Amino acid sequence: MSDSVDVTAWLHEFARLIAEHKDELTALDSAIGDADHGTNMDRGMTAVVKALDEGGGGSPSTLLKQSGMKLISTVGGASGPLYGTAFLRMATAAGDAPALDGPTFAKALRAALEGVVTRGKAVAGDKTMFDALSPAVDALDAALADGQSLTEALTTTVAAAEKGRDATIPLVARKGRASYLGERSAGHQDPGATSVTLLLAAAATAAGA
Ligand code: ADP
Ligand code: MG
Repeated sequence: MSDSVDVTAWLHEFARLIAEHKDELTALDSAIGDADHGTNMDRGMTAVVKALDEGGGGSPSTLLKQSGMKLISTVGGASGPLYGTAFLRMATAAGDAPALDGPTFAKALRAALEGVVTRGKAVAGDKTMFDALSPAVDALDAALADGQSLTEALTTTVAAAEKGRDATIPLVARKGRASYLGERSAGHQDPGATSVTLLLAAAATAAGA
């Protein structure tokens, strides 16, 4: 197997994981938000998969761009524009690369993080998807620099995302709807940090981890 992330397999697996965890994501969002993160993401990923299945394929960049636009038009809420921007930035970063190999995938994921920050202005500890994505991107760069294959590196990446996700539990939210709760947002895992961890788990699976 080539050491790369197949975009079609990645998006199908992400959609499957979102569907599987839909109720959990919505339950997390009901504790500190408006109970729609699971349904938002499931609606979006169902539309992404439909477009993939109906489309004629394309380069990684083309598929990522198409998916980003679908997410923006279907997910809604805060997470729609954030995920959409992340995918559009990944599309640009992938350029004309024929496959998402280690360096290309790492560059794309870094661009996704930068897109999330540009759009949402979150910093570490705000209790958002940033808190899982940012340590994951750093872990991926470090693992690849260490000479690991992309498949191996993605296992490390997922572990870093899970740790970041779990570390959102005690945090007081400073961005998004959860921030309206102030101190009462502490003690709950962030829904977006949870879904972004699924995105990375799906990439690991698509790479054959
Ligand atoms: P909404 O909050 O509009 O209902 P969702 O429930 O779909 O949207 O998504 C909520 C998630 O979005 C949060 O759990 C958080 O991870 C993420 N989020 C919200 N605001 C921001 C932001 N400014 N930067 C990064 N992530 C954010
Ligand atoms: Mg919500």
